[in-house]
Amino acid sequence: MPGLQDVSIEAMDPQRFASVVSRREYEALVDLISHATRELRGRVLWNVNSTAKGGGVVEMLRPLLGYCRGAGVEARWVVLSAGPEFFEITKRLHNRLHGFEGDGGSLGTDEREIYEETLVANAADFVRLLHPQDIVILHDPQTAGLAEAARQTGAAVIWRCHVGLDDANDHARGAWNFLRGYVLPAHAYVFSRGGFAWEGLPRDRIAVIRPSIDAFSPKNADQTREQSLAILSTAGIFGHDATGCPMFTRSDGTPGRVGRRVDTLEDEPLASDHQLVMQVSRWDRLKDPLGVLLAFAGHIASRTDAHLLLAGPSTEAVADDPEGAEVLAAVRSAWHELPSAVRRRVHVTSLPMDDIEENAAIVNALQRHASVVVQKSLAEGFGLTVAEAMWKQRAVVASRIGGIRDQIDHGRSGLLIPDPRNLEQVGTAVTGLLKDSERARQIGAAAQLSVQQHFLGPHHLGRFFEVIRRVVSRREHGSSMP
Ligand code: UDP
Repeated sequence: MPGLQDVSIEAMDPQRFASVVSRREYEALVDLISHATRELRGRVLWNVNSTAKGGGVVEMLRPLLGYCRGAGVEARWVVLSAGPEFFEITKRLHNRLHGFEGDGGSLGTDEREIYEETLVANAADFVRLLHPQDIVILHDPQTAGLAEAARQTGAAVIWRCHVGLDDANDHARGAWNFLRGYVLPAHAYVFSRGGFAWEGLPRDRIAVIRPSIDAFSPKNADQTREQSLAILSTAGIFGHDATGCPMFTRSDGTPGRVGRRVDTLEDEPLASDHQLVMQVSRWDRLKDPLGVLLAFAGHIASRTDAHLLLAGPSTEAVADDPEGAEVLAAVRSAWHELPSAVRRRVHVTSLPMDDIEENAAIVNALQRHASVVVQKSLAEGFGLTVAEAMWKQRAVVASRIGGIRDQIDHGRSGLLIPDPRNLEQVGTAVTGLLKDSERARQIGAAAQLSVQQHFLGPHHLGRFFEVIRRVVSRREHGSSMP
């Protein structure tokens, strides 16, 4: 097993935030940053997760840690090393933490052995890097088993869980029982919503930090319509050639150019003037791409001329998600079963992941181009794809679950589906927006404002520093968590 992987982080200047939040908010942030950098001087802020590619945690960590570094905080990011058996177990835990059974496998002694063996090996490498004054943030179930070893070095340890569910059930409790002993040694536990906090964790060590998107990343930065069209044509999503230039700006400010092509299962390519319904997500059952396909086939296709595009990462690329290929295969096989008149309007697209900023530029262009963006998840810790589409003034139709409920004010900044398994509800909401472009426009405008007020980097960075400062101060002076 290769050792821990060090992920390099580009420093980003938090001064950019001045252009996206109010003056008052910006000044408060500058103040908080200056206190935080003083207090964190000489400490390394370690972050550990299980992949450097794919998914919301990666999407969020890169800018968050980039802005920390830009603010003068020594933030570092390492990825643990593990084999397929470990990821099978942690995917099981991930599904159960969302309240689903997943692959039905057990979480017993054998699984504990594999989990602990992997983390003991990683801990041996990791603790050599730590100093007692450091702060360690362990992300998600994959890293929980490092908490005890990290704590023993004298470092402050925070466990941050990005997944959760509104109403606990036995599946979730089973995962909590498996993980609780690993998590408990941490000095604080961070959840994305208050309601996600587990039973059996000391309440006074729980904090909530809501995720955010980076308005300046290749995923979310402005694109002109010509730019989006050029990117989508060059990537092979449209059947016709690009007229513009498929350029984008990389996080380090250098120019990037989309050159790789997507891999799409389709009868014929999309044209730029087709109305488009789109969902982009990892190929995961809890994102329910199959349900989106069936909702489109059963309740949208016959009432509109729209096309559906289901996009996700090329499945070889995402190391910590063993189920991706299976889910994509199920979607592809359902596509083959569609009646030809519907199949012609459904496109199942794997996006290249070799260059994650190129991938981001394609996702950005797709989100901007879609008439309606869907996120029909069955469970969702937060759902960055929702905030991303809202930021681009898209009308989003999403499930009324988990963190999505924090983002969409139903009827004003998007539409929430009360029962995500009800395909007719999805179809009716999407069809309504496709037929009423003025309503979709108004919802999109409100959506962008809402993201600007709640879910951009400054809100996240500010809260992140606040929680870290409290953890450090609590350890040193015994004060309580926010
Ligand atoms: N994403 C991406 N390329 C893809 C599929 C997804 O860049 O092919 C991104 C998506 O834009 C979002 C993140 O992966 O930024 C997914 O985060 P989310 O919180 O929606 O879900 P998670 O994958 O963490 O469950």
